[in-house]
Amino acid sequence: MTRPRIRWGLVGGGQNSLIGIVHRVAASMGDDCELVGGVFSEHEVKCLEFAAVLGLDPARAYATLDALIVGETALPAGERMSLVTIATPNYLHYTMARKLVQSGFHVICEKPVTLTATEAQALATDVAQAGTVFALAHTYTGYPMVRQMRSMIAAGALGAIQKVHAQYFQGWINPIIHDREKWASVWRLDPKRGGPSCCIGDIGIHAFNLLEYTTGLRVVRLLADIDTLDPANPLDVDGSALLRLENGARGVLAASQIATGEENNLQIAVYGRDGGLRWQQENPNRLDFLREDAPATLYTPGHAYDDPVARDASKLPPGHPEGFIDAMGNIYRGVVRAIRGEAKLAEIPGIEAGVRGMRFVAAVLESARTGGRWVDI
Ligand code: NAD
Repeated sequence: MTRPRIRWGLVGGGQNSLIGIVHRVAASMGDDCELVGGVFSEHEVKCLEFAAVLGLDPARAYATLDALIVGETALPAGERMSLVTIATPNYLHYTMARKLVQSGFHVICEKPVTLTATEAQALATDVAQAGTVFALAHTYTGYPMVRQMRSMIAAGALGAIQKVHAQYFQGWINPIIHDREKWASVWRLDPKRGGPSCCIGDIGIHAFNLLEYTTGLRVVRLLADIDTLDPANPLDVDGSALLRLENGARGVLAASQIATGEENNLQIAVYGRDGGLRWQQENPNRLDFLREDAPATLYTPGHAYDDPVARDASKLPPGHPEGFIDAMGNIYRGVVRAIRGEAKLAEIPGIEAGVRGMRFVAAVLESARTGGRWVDI
């Protein structure tokens, strides 16, 4: 029996965007989604040009999201787009996501889900009312070894968690922040387009998500310090926070986009009474399990010894490296299954993770603003 593909649309993520190619390849990985249209640029001509490159019907290369919603909802149910990904700069996520959810589309939204925690909460209400699938593109949760880590912690492999350490270091803003003429070319440094935070909202939020995703524990309080490096720059390009988890465990989260020479150094380490687990994004097919009374154990993807949710996230036999785009592919596979009613979004961050992320960003900014007070999340 043939199974109809999910008709999928992309908003943002156009030619030469950073994350667009990741979504387009990831969505095609499971042979489940078919790109039928979208709004690929804020410029209509560029949108049409890119639709031609992709071989799409120009009638479904829309000039705006409103036009997409009107055009698609006018189509018969069997032709209409059902899933839309939002991969625009941050300031558009909230209004676009609300419109799409309220119009009955399933949504994959890039992070940060909104610009504020209040907006994220309002969106959560919409999602609950619509009953549609809403996923957040926290790509790193799609890695097999991150899912292995989460499963092992949930199964008690570490015992009670007593220390967490999450770090996300990049260096790409360093040459930009020292040259003011370049600032305007980077939307992440513009509060109107990027939001109230650069580094914490852009990458610190990934580290925070990984920490709560892998441990299953919530961060309840934090004390933070941020740096803009140049007094004329309104947004953080570096930040650190001490964390208190709901079980009393202490943690540290550090994020930086001025860590000179760093590429995409995201790491998470979780230590419990009985052992530790350590994962690094730049070497993602390796998970170290540390113990006191036995040699360290190396887990890699695709083996029978891996947890079923980790095995499910590998497409290839052991030793065939899979990476960032494959991890995003696993987000799409989970979303497709949820749309088809085959499985819940269990392994995929949803709107709740979006609300948590925005509360984290707000708490970091509030703590830093008050000179380092502990702030509840
Ligand atoms: P980018 O600047 O490279 O691309 C943005 C795209 O959005 C461009 O194609 C641009 O033409 C398009 N766009 C802008 N305004 C639009 C509008 N009004 N309508 C339609 N399209 C519009 O940005 P990017 O680095 O790809 O980031 C996009 C989003 O993805 C951001 O929210 C970012 O935080 C997120 N992101 C997530 C990850 C991840 O790991 N999940 C990685 C990188 C970026």
